[in-house]
Amino acid sequence: MRRVTILGATGSIGQNTLDLIARAEGDFQIVALTGDQNIAQLARDALAHRAELAVTADPALLSDLRDALCGSDVRAAAGPASLIEAAQMPADWIMSAIVGVAGLAPGLAALGQGTTLALANKESLVAAGPLMLATAAATGARILPVDSEHSAIFQALVGEDPAAVDRVVITASGGAFRDRPLGDLAHVTVAEASQHPNWDMGQRITIDSASMFNKALEVIEAKEFFALEPDQIEVLVHPQSTVHALVGFVDGALMAHVGPPDMRHAIGYALNWPARRALPVERLDLAALGRLDFAHPDPARYPALGLARQVMAAGGHTGAVFNAAKERALDHFIAGRIGFARMSDLVARALDEVGAQDGCAAKGAMTLESVGRWDHLTRQHMDRLVGA
Ligand code: NAD
Ligand code: MG
Repeated sequence: MRRVTILGATGSIGQNTLDLIARAEGDFQIVALTGDQNIAQLARDALAHRAELAVTADPALLSDLRDALCGSDVRAAAGPASLIEAAQMPADWIMSAIVGVAGLAPGLAALGQGTTLALANKESLVAAGPLMLATAAATGARILPVDSEHSAIFQALVGEDPAAVDRVVITASGGAFRDRPLGDLAHVTVAEASQHPNWDMGQRITIDSASMFNKALEVIEAKEFFALEPDQIEVLVHPQSTVHALVGFVDGALMAHVGPPDMRHAIGYALNWPARRALPVERLDLAALGRLDFAHPDPARYPALGLARQVMAAGGHTGAVFNAAKERALDHFIAGRIGFARMSDLVARALDEVGAQDGCAAKGAMTLESVGRWDHLTRQHMDRLVGA
């Protein structure tokens, strides 16, 4: 019986994780579940899985959560300190699936306890990769990748010598606007950007897939996770989303990870690791698929990819600036204050104006507080740029 906590249980990744746990009938015991606004879902899952603790990030919703759990032995709590408490309760495996840099502090708290962290929350690795890795190294905690591309790389590396890796290729569907005329991108709507051609995910990552900010985060995530040089990481547009990533070795071999676009594969691999167990994902019929296409991404369509290169070259807190600028640009797009194409323009400006002051963001020791400072500064700067 493995004790499991899910941070961000009510979201797309959290729900897929609970789906796998429900199917595993008794192999896992839920310790804590966390959510934010969706109290009904959080309470329903906490009761169904007999969690010890349910936490909403929003203190204003604590009484609703208490009401929903009334008469059960599930404890209700709310707010940032309770998220940390959930992450620090003894567990064998914690899923980090909060969206955004809000996932950093709870993820770090889990690593600080030495707990295995299944990491979907790529933002924490982008904003604070060195801090996450140093914390894990200090306590002996293991981080398992959940992002499909990184899970694919991780699986392709089983039994291999990391020194024999020449390059990695991560694929991108191209998102909702892959085939739209470039001139239209200034006018596309939030609803259109929220439709992914292949994957069913939360709204924010789906819009980030259309802009390829998601892939930009993933390139940085791959650099941190697998200790790669930036020029070892390549991105290819692959409209079928069937090959998730490839690892190229020094002898010229390319190992591809091939599978259906279903996050339950990567989640299940991390959940059962180091074992492989049967998972309820579609078996691919390659003959029916017929063809797999790959192309270089167009830098004019996806400027976010170039920005990721800039961030990797600068290092330090530049990742925190980039992530915060991206998160705030997305907030402003979703709120209808800026157009789709302006997101990357504003993030580029934030990198120049906040991050690069004499290379200042690249310098200084990294702590949770320092990352928070750069995050805050950047969000304020973005709001000024938008006039919000
Ligand atoms: P989602 O929006 O569906 O769910 C987000 C979860 O975070 C919810 O439980 C929500 O209650 C919680 N949350 C939101 N704001 C919060 C806050 N301020 N404090 C605490 N909790 C908060 O998102 P998702 O699509 O499940 O993505 C979760 C993470 O996984 C993201 O980092 C995303 O990039 C990554 N990821 C997702 C997918 C996918 O298929 N959805 C794939 C790869 C990586
Ligand atoms: Mg991914």
